[in-house]
Amino acid sequence: MNSSELLARNARKYPEAEAVIGMGKRYSYRAMDCLVNQFGNALLKKGISRGDKVVLFMPNVPEFVIAYFAVQRIGAIIVPINAKLTQPEVEYILDHSDAKALIVHHLLFESIKGLEVPLLLIKTGEPYGSVWEAFDHLLKKGNDAPISCTLTEEDESTILYTSGTTGRSKGVLFRYRSILTVAQMICVEMEMKPESRLLLMMPLSHSAPLHLFLMAGIVTGSTLVLTPTFTPELLLNSVEQEKTTHFFGAPVAYLLTANDPQIKQTDLSSMKWWVYGGAPLSPGEVKFVQEYFQTDNLVCVYGLTEAGPSGTLLLGKEHEGKAGSIGRRAALHTEIKIVNDRGEAVQPGEVGEILLRGEGNMARYYKDEEATKKAFSGDWLLTGDLAKVDGEGYIWVVDRKKDLIISGGVNIYPKEIEEVLLSYPSIQEAAVVGVPHKEWGETVKAYFLAKEKVNMEELKALLTENLASFKIPRLYEQVDMLPRNASGKILKQPLRDRGDK
Ligand code: AMP
Ligand code: MG
Ligand code: MG
Repeated sequence: MNSSELLARNARKYPEAEAVIGMGKRYSYRAMDCLVNQFGNALLKKGISRGDKVVLFMPNVPEFVIAYFAVQRIGAIIVPINAKLTQPEVEYILDHSDAKALIVHHLLFESIKGLEVPLLLIKTGEPYGSVWEAFDHLLKKGNDAPISCTLTEEDESTILYTSGTTGRSKGVLFRYRSILTVAQMICVEMEMKPESRLLLMMPLSHSAPLHLFLMAGIVTGSTLVLTPTFTPELLLNSVEQEKTTHFFGAPVAYLLTANDPQIKQTDLSSMKWWVYGGAPLSPGEVKFVQEYFQTDNLVCVYGLTEAGPSGTLLLGKEHEGKAGSIGRRAALHTEIKIVNDRGEAVQPGEVGEILLRGEGNMARYYKDEEATKKAFSGDWLLTGDLAKVDGEGYIWVVDRKKDLIISGGVNIYPKEIEEVLLSYPSIQEAAVVGVPHKEWGETVKAYFLAKEKVNMEELKALLTENLASFKIPRLYEQVDMLPRNASGKILKQPLRDRGDK
């Protein structure tokens, strides 16, 4: 069984049901399956075959879904990449992944127009030059005969390039088993059914929207509603018009939407599951979002690409008193443990690293044995996330291991300091890092972005009130912008590299 067979199965089970909606078009399961065969046959004719890597550079549009399943149907390996990448980043991935083909959407074409690579190049929209094949043209050339390709759950399916918050982006390679397991996990945990309508606005190049939502929808035969970008207005209009039932978004998507006045006039009553993840929402933010979205089913998922991204869940009701935690149980088919430096399970209040075990875990980093070795301890994935467990077993992420500051032999967690900085009224963004120091090893430096000039005395007083003295930053720098990767996470390495300058 592979994911593309699930699509064919839905076409037999629910031929007329809506499969994909996007860019003003609507496709039934029968139509989608037929297009996937056509595109798959066209790729075969072009010499793409089993095991070849095909890079997909597309926003969330129906062609994404067609290409994704066509590539998998012929046994090739799909490599969906973030729509915000620049030409050098795309070139790096084409080279590193040994890509045989690149499929690009015309909305993104401008950013890689200068690309000159000896690959099969396919583009939607108007044809371009002599080397770019037109997507629609290829599609019409392929016939819709079913493709027979025997794939098992052990076969390799997908490479997802990490967002690279800690250095060069790595290729996370998955087998079908991982993808199908995490998709089924979400179907069960989030009560997905054929009648469910999933709203997919976050980039499908990321494991959470791709595996937890798109694949889960294909497992259940639900309807996928795609939008090529995210804006609060688009979210509100899509829910109201398409009567969607499930949404997944980053915390910032919720905060922006809750702040949009249109939310008060929007009928959100079709929605059953509001899911966030990738970063926490603070207890105050949770209250705010619950109130504006008028929901008691705001659900948190914790995970990481390398885990499929299976991890833990904090259900709607559990947010009462535990908002800000990631829950107290692993998702279906996943095991979790939190261990200290000596490899022992932590006691309540003690900080340790989160380890995950389960079918969701990646097979390996593509062409990086060393990084793969470092990522696992036996069959446990080392997440690099530090966490504490409270008396009732709820897990609280403290910070990322790589961001930990050790000053004078004492551990300092930047996130805690960033939270205090952010509570200062005019500060909008903050990043705290350790910079080299002769005596202490590292010292604490705070970068922040503020609407107006900050009164430093006032700020230091606020920090002193809330934090032990060894945690108070010694260095401060007000900046106009913090470096971020394509998925919006702050890049701390360049900030560390700037040192005490
Ligand atoms: P990525 O591999 O890009 O999905 O990033 C995964 C990382 O995001 C994890 O290792 C965590 O550091 C962080 N993360 C994901 N979900 C949550 C969450 N619910 N709460 C806090 N941090 C999270
Ligand atoms: Mg994430
Ligand atoms: Mg990561």
